[in-house]
Amino acid sequence: RARTSADLISAEEPVLAHNYHPLPVVVARAEGTWVEDVEGRRYLDMLAGYSALNFGHRHPALIEAAHRQLDRLTLTSRAFHNDRLAEFAERLAELTGLDMVLPMNTGAEAVESGIKVARKWAYEVKGVPADQATIVVAAENFHGRTTTIVSFSTDETARAGFGPFTPGFRIVPYNDLAALEAAVDETTAAVLLEPIQGEAGVIIPDPGYLTGVRELTRRKGCLFIADEIQSGLGRTGRTLAVEHESVVPDVLLLGKALGGGIVPVSAVVAGRDVLGVLRPGEHGSTFGGNPLAAAVGTAVVELLETGEFQQRAADLGVLLRDGLAGLVGKGVVGFRARGLWAGVDVDPAIGTGREISARLMREGVLVKDTHGSTIRLAPPLTITGEELESALGTLAKVLAEG
Ligand code: PLP
Repeated sequence: RARTSADLISAEEPVLAHNYHPLPVVVARAEGTWVEDVEGRRYLDMLAGYSALNFGHRHPALIEAAHRQLDRLTLTSRAFHNDRLAEFAERLAELTGLDMVLPMNTGAEAVESGIKVARKWAYEVKGVPADQATIVVAAENFHGRTTTIVSFSTDETARAGFGPFTPGFRIVPYNDLAALEAAVDETTAAVLLEPIQGEAGVIIPDPGYLTGVRELTRRKGCLFIADEIQSGLGRTGRTLAVEHESVVPDVLLLGKALGGGIVPVSAVVAGRDVLGVLRPGEHGSTFGGNPLAAAVGTAVVELLETGEFQQRAADLGVLLRDGLAGLVGKGVVGFRARGLWAGVDVDPAIGTGREISARLMREGVLVKDTHGSTIRLAPPLTITGEELESALGTLAKVLAEG
């Protein structure tokens, strides 16, 4: 007998670490914007794998690139060259306007690698005394789950019980240039920020903030590291969220959608003056830059080169914003949106973000709460206007039921 969703959920309990609390849906198949559970129920995916599925599930061009590569070569390790990596790096550098690429796998690894590179740059180029480098970060940040990264988290749930932590980080309020100015000194290697804070609830800084960060870091002689792992690659209506202020960071961290929802692919992308500090043996990853990842990553960059997905996010973003504006006072107390990405604060009297997400699930729409009564909407950029209208209609219905 085939196992039901309920069977599979209870089968996980004794054998899987309980570090997640998934909604009770067991997905078995997906195509484009739609996923289907074990019993054949269909759901509109309004989360898109935390933006790893910007091009939808199983985008034909990405699946084809993966299949083609699976039939030829999957892994060499970087002990040898592979014939796919040069093109991936060339095209990613071209897309982002930077010089060099350090390929890794997960987002957290890209962040870790960015931190290591910035520290090395501080010692070798800036002349910071050994082991004195500091990195300034923002409160409410989310950059991943490694020990060093949770060292500078302000979320106690992410930190409690995991010490001792890595020193060398200073935390300032987000969207506060005066606080940043006060925290940056001659020991500062870098300022590390999300251009829009995703996990915090899609927090968009005031206009001028990112320009101010760019100006300040340049004037003070430290690097600006933009973590675009969630905000990048089309989500906000531009290739990168920093483009909304025409800002070019020194170091760009990419992940999630870079792997097309097929394989984990992340990257540190930076100028030659920065990534050039790494020499053989100083950093690495067995899977980083593997030919399957490079083939899929190249196909992702090709999709972005057309500008089509950025344009869809910008155009449909207007529909999303207007739809949410119409729900304010009808169960929504506030929202923030850019492109196809929104943080929606639901009236806590109606329910927690989790409860609203569960009700939406029962109505065939998958979303995820961030925290409290905030839910995040981040559909695949391939969503149609009708599908988006339908998801907003379902949200309106669930909120109206109170
Ligand atoms: N940085 C940002 C801005 C993220 O949103 C995330 C994941 O949500 C990460 C880093 C960590 O990525 P990963 O889960 O692939 O390690």
